[in-house]
Amino acid sequence: MTQLIGHFIAGQPEAGTGRRTGPVFNPSTGQEIARCDYADRATLDRAVDVATQAGKRWGRASHAARQAVIFKLRELMIANLDLLAEVIGREHGKTIADAKGELGRAIEGIEFAVNAPHVTKGEFATNVGGDIDVFSMRTPIGVVGAITPFNFPIMVPAVMMTMAISVGNAVVWKPSEKVPTAALEFARLWKEAGLPDGVFNVVQGDKEMVDGILEHPGIAGVSFVGSTAVGEYVYQKGTSHNKRVAAFTGGKNHMVVMPDADLDAAASAFVAAGFGSASQRCMAVSLLLPVGQATADRLRELVIEKTKALKVGPYNDPQADFGAVVSAQSKQAVLQAIENCIKDGGELLLDGRGLQVPGHANGYYVGPTLFDRVTTDMQMYKEEIFGPVRAIMRPMTLDEAIAITNAHDFGNGSVIYTRDGKSAHRFMTEVESGMIGVNVSVPLPAAYFNFGGLRRSKFGEGHLYGPDAARFYTKIKTISQRWPDADQEAAPVSLAFNP
Ligand code: NAD
Repeated sequence: MTQLIGHFIAGQPEAGTGRRTGPVFNPSTGQEIARCDYADRATLDRAVDVATQAGKRWGRASHAARQAVIFKLRELMIANLDLLAEVIGREHGKTIADAKGELGRAIEGIEFAVNAPHVTKGEFATNVGGDIDVFSMRTPIGVVGAITPFNFPIMVPAVMMTMAISVGNAVVWKPSEKVPTAALEFARLWKEAGLPDGVFNVVQGDKEMVDGILEHPGIAGVSFVGSTAVGEYVYQKGTSHNKRVAAFTGGKNHMVVMPDADLDAAASAFVAAGFGSASQRCMAVSLLLPVGQATADRLRELVIEKTKALKVGPYNDPQADFGAVVSAQSKQAVLQAIENCIKDGGELLLDGRGLQVPGHANGYYVGPTLFDRVTTDMQMYKEEIFGPVRAIMRPMTLDEAIAITNAHDFGNGSVIYTRDGKSAHRFMTEVESGMIGVNVSVPLPAAYFNFGGLRRSKFGEGHLYGPDAARFYTKIKTISQRWPDADQEAAPVSLAFNP
């Protein structure tokens, strides 16, 4: 009998009605392994009601009581590392090693979330006039709706929701329907950690559930991570329903390599950051921009050699560098992008289309594919290709490389490899990306810095993690306070000004 993956509401797993369901695949084998129940509006209403009630109590709990739960969650994550990595790998296709890396980043975010009281404590000014003190306080916004992508089944939701909960909110989370099981495991760990029932709820679903969250009057704020088209929609619809919304969206990350750089190190960095997790990361490097003909020719040879050494296999093959892409549709889109790039005039250096993984004929595999001589008019430059296809472009100068980077719609992460401080300084000041690497291929900020892109890689204010995330999940009140004597003068009717 097919397993039905359900929801988690009020501290309890729920099977769901089974009226609307969708398939869940193991990308490594191409097999349907379960069905995911898609919750209806009545279920969402119930989850929001439960979260509203539980959130009121949780928001009044002391900081110490809240942080104790989060400390415990961190320990449980470590104790359950193997189980969680297996669950992630089976439904996503990433290798177990990569899934553990994801969990490591999740744990760093959880660790930072215990600092919420420090970040959200207010300001105070005494005697601003007439014995009046003014101070500000940050309080929880209420119920947070979280909508997350398939590519980090635990990391993205963990960093986002742990902070939301740490500052005193309750959450209703709609995970990606492609990777629904990790959500239930994460919910189980929250409960084990001692989180009161109803503070953390999971409602599975697709677009219908996203619309339900965006329209729901009981939800005060929405955190979204996913593609740009959907993120823009979520931002516009959510804000039109008077919610605060932060949407973190697609990336097309450029890596500029100067002639003075360590080319071997740059090539290794490009291959790892480009193809890791079958390139299904918003921070993956997509485009390599060696500056000048000689740099491009040398780097191209190094990249070809290192890419050829990559091994593709099922998620549980310890020798595999990366695994299958997430779905048959995703594989088809990647194959189409390769076709398009050939038609557009890109030079195909390595072709991963025919890759066969022994024993896994139906898995959604694409081998590492590399193009040279890609230009700004091609789809390969313009669009995010969420699969193992990477490309080389050929700027002649740093000016041209910066112009190409800035001409792109997306501004998530950009990277320069150089030994020259002046070039690095120009790059970091002139490039419009939210996260910039200097001789660092994946400039993922440490958990205590803000994570977020610019331009069409982010909609709305706030950051996915870091201090600004704590601010996003709280509202600010400013209080002016006086304790007058009984005989003190009454305030005048007119506003007074005596220069
Ligand atoms: P997606 O946009 O397809 O899905 C994201 C969420 O939106 C899912 O929960 C999904 O159910 C829902 N959704 C899908 N289509 C929808 C629609 N038409 N209307 C309303 N909701 C819809 O994204 P994905 O394929 O799951 O994830 C990959 C994308 O996420 C990539 O673009 C990647 O760059 C991006 N991403 C960005 C960041 C970041 O921090 N900027 C991090 C991780 C992933």
